[in-house]
Amino acid sequence: MTYQHSYARSIADPAAFWADQADDLAWYRKPLNTLSENADGTHQWFADGRLNSCYLALDHQIEQGRGEQTALIYDSPVTSTQQSFTYNQLRDEVARLAGLLRSLGVQKGDGVIIYMPMVPQAAMAMLACARIGAVHSVVFGGFAANELALRIDDARPTLLLTASCGLEFDRVIEYKPLVDKALQLARHQPRQVLVLQRPQARASLVEGRDLDWQDAVANASAVAPVELAAADPLYIMYTSGTTGKPKGIVRENGGNAVALRFAMRHIYGMQAGDVWWGISDVGWVVGHSLIVYGPLMNGCTTVFYEGKPIRTPDAGAYWRVVEQYRVNGLFCAPTAMRAIRKEDPEGALLRRYDLSSLRQLFLAGEKLDSSTHQWLESTSGKAVHDHWWQTETGWPVTAPCVGLEGSAARPGSSNRAVPGYHVRVLDDDGQLLAANQQGAIVIALPLPPGCSQTLWGDHQRYLDAYLTTYPGYYHTGDGGYLDDDGFVYIMGRTDDVINVSGHRLSTGEMEDLVARHPAVAECAVIGVHDDIKGQVPLALVVLKDGQAISEAALQSELMASVREQIGALACFNQVRVVKRLPKTRSGKILRAVLRKIADQQAYTPPSTLDDPAVLGEIEAVLASFARVG
Ligand code: AMP
Repeated sequence: MTYQHSYARSIADPAAFWADQADDLAWYRKPLNTLSENADGTHQWFADGRLNSCYLALDHQIEQGRGEQTALIYDSPVTSTQQSFTYNQLRDEVARLAGLLRSLGVQKGDGVIIYMPMVPQAAMAMLACARIGAVHSVVFGGFAANELALRIDDARPTLLLTASCGLEFDRVIEYKPLVDKALQLARHQPRQVLVLQRPQARASLVEGRDLDWQDAVANASAVAPVELAAADPLYIMYTSGTTGKPKGIVRENGGNAVALRFAMRHIYGMQAGDVWWGISDVGWVVGHSLIVYGPLMNGCTTVFYEGKPIRTPDAGAYWRVVEQYRVNGLFCAPTAMRAIRKEDPEGALLRRYDLSSLRQLFLAGEKLDSSTHQWLESTSGKAVHDHWWQTETGWPVTAPCVGLEGSAARPGSSNRAVPGYHVRVLDDDGQLLAANQQGAIVIALPLPPGCSQTLWGDHQRYLDAYLTTYPGYYHTGDGGYLDDDGFVYIMGRTDDVINVSGHRLSTGEMEDLVARHPAVAECAVIGVHDDIKGQVPLALVVLKDGQAISEAALQSELMASVREQIGALACFNQVRVVKRLPKTRSGKILRAVLRKIADQQAYTPPSTLDDPAVLGEIEAVLASFARVG
């Protein structure tokens, strides 16, 4: 199969192309209806297909003779643990946990929140939900209680699964007090809370509500996977939108299975038996697609790492894992590689390890800057690829397809559209732009299988956020251009979303918190360049008249508030007091102008700007955050 032929066919006849891809999936009932369009412009893939994602990830692999192959390797430098599970062992653990969930009253279609660190039980919990048709929603452990409460109220889970603690380097972060606080804040209450006790901290259990995981699972009996419709939701993954309310991206079982089969084989070039390492956290979409479902559904061994790129114990940690488990391919975020480079610029630690098993490295989550790209390629001697996707799509939109013949990679770009994605660039009026012209990056409908077609409990918000701006297209929220050969260059978000260490955050939500401070008259939070994290938030604050608070005091109070309400992952630690913010005559803060100044992009002060003199002060403040080099 060549890239060119696959791509052309996927655009000319998506139904035929994806029917072929779906053909060798182990469905319970093979779909006859590959693609149908709904009246509102959304699409349905494989409507009449029936399957189970947990069956595909475990039981089916065992039926194919992989029962004794290692399915999951848990490597945890923070707890000095290394443990592996064969497909047989993982299936048995998952089947029993699924039995427990069912005995606790979890039914098909019920929500289950998983708020856990990177322990294998988190993956087991996801798969156990999938086995009985429950809809899991994993909430990243770095989120504060308030964020967890928002997700509890939106997902309305029957059950919440958690652990006593997570570990950050040598720091123990107790999860249970956060869960207890979230449940005090939330209106919705799950019936029970299942708590995995870790030796580093023991959680106190609330009688009648909380259950000890190990005790409960010891008495459970295994259950078989249930048959589900392709359109039944597999999971909800919350991601930041432009408002404080997170968006519950919904992933369907059928599309996800077909898409991840295609992605693992044809984008990442992985075969059954290969060792794959998705370096992320189960709390993010990558954790779902590239740590749990993608590798297991394709018969790979997945590495499940509870550690950091540096300081666990050093910047050679990744290379140690690659050598030890003979990793064949990996995914990671550029920020991790920048952190490694800072500590090991000459690659002295890297050279201590045998990386011969590794075929290539894929990076995403934010733009792979060319300096990091070149450094990584030259020190590792491996092919390094930038590729671009989003929580909403669930799998790459643009990437080199290393498993397809004739696929090329172009450093500096996020590469070409993957089969299934008709990527276009539009101007503000929705007109198609020619090559090399910058505009809004969109995807012509239909979106391929796997992409979210709705938001949990709020379909209208999905239509408004993604399909309304440019009729007939999915609006990605990213700006950029295509070159003459169709390679895509992503220039960044065009909305109020920023990307900190590959984590997507809403500046609007931070603005809400900053504006609540009694000394603040108004504010704007924008993303500014950071050498390691890519972007960090910066609050530009105008004080109320007569306020005498110092910038430093204000900064520390606001930092505490954002940490408390959103979490440490926001990396909110820059506050600058300014006299005024640039506004339109009607009083709207010109965030797009602020973003351009921060990114050192040329801009024309809009004719609606009320006072052009204000820009001088802002430019001076933002100059100190400018990208060097
Ligand atoms: P998330 O949904 O959290 O994965 O964030 C998706 C957003 O991250 C995209 O809309 C982009 O703004 C950004 N992003 C992800 N990968 C890349 C990449 N390779 N190059 C540039 N931006 C990226």
